[in-house]
Amino acid sequence: MIEKADWIWHDGELCPWRDASPDPFTHTLHYGFGAFEGLRSYRLRDGGLGIFRLREHIARLFESARALGLELPYRARELEDACGKVIRQNALEEAYVRPLVYVGDPNIIFAYWLNEVHVTIAAFRWQGYSDRGRQEGAPAKIAPYPRAKAHADLYKIKACGHYLLSNLAFGDAARDGYKQAIFLDEDEMVCEATGENIFVVRDRVLQTPSLGRGVLAGITRATVMTLARDLGYEVIETDIPVDALRSAEEVFTAGTASEIMPIPSVDGAPIGDGVAGPVTRELQRAYEQVVRGNAAASPRWVTPL
Ligand code: PMP
Repeated sequence: MIEKADWIWHDGELCPWRDASPDPFTHTLHYGFGAFEGLRSYRLRDGGLGIFRLREHIARLFESARALGLELPYRARELEDACGKVIRQNALEEAYVRPLVYVGDPNIIFAYWLNEVHVTIAAFRWQGYSDRGRQEGAPAKIAPYPRAKAHADLYKIKACGHYLLSNLAFGDAARDGYKQAIFLDEDEMVCEATGENIFVVRDRVLQTPSLGRGVLAGITRATVMTLARDLGYEVIETDIPVDALRSAEEVFTAGTASEIMPIPSVDGAPIGDGVAGPVTRELQRAYEQVVRGNAAASPRWVTPL
């Protein structure tokens, strides 16, 4: 359960969250035609607060909107500032911030371009998973919903409608006692998890599916690739057949909300030793340092509040 903050930013203004309710005929509510982002703020080592990779998240929101043919009535800088305002106005510290672009009424037909584009930014307190959760990781199930290769380019953006399958796959996995689901495409190549990109470790080489395989252009994915290379690992973007996943030494997911999360097993079969492996743990530590402003890349990636 999230702990709702008092204020949200809606169409250019801060307003009480309890007053924010879209009309039942809101286009996006019916058809999933919209885009969103998820960002995190962290308490920094110097005592301040910072948002991790704010510019990249807002840039991706614009890219997602553009790919859907939606023009945002704001500049990137305004939305970046708005994210900071929502955190400060609610006196939040470690938080998850959710900007959403949606299309409103009055046209119920599929002519989305006739409707107004709205932007809302909500936030809630979120300190991430416990150390234990990050060590135990998320046992995963292969999702029974293959991703269509023909739609691979669409999955590069963070469109609301994609999450129909993420919800279904997550529900399917949870009913069987798993904590995560992994999407394959029609060739049985690994795509990504329900809300995270995926990495496989073998012989000190990290592999991750290329963007052409129907995966979101994840910001944590990009962060992990840089951190891993800085630590001396080779990182390659390549096709990963489902069998390579099962025989890997380590598998982990990368995403803003859950950061770097081990996948100790797939469909009940343990991966490696079935616990967080040494490379995963090293990257978890490096990620923790960088988001908290304590690494060489931090000044580039952390926007102080
Ligand atoms: N894939 C999907 C489907 C996602 O929803 C997310 C979360 N945004 C990710 C990957 C990870 O992306 P990021 O690292 O930018 O949070």
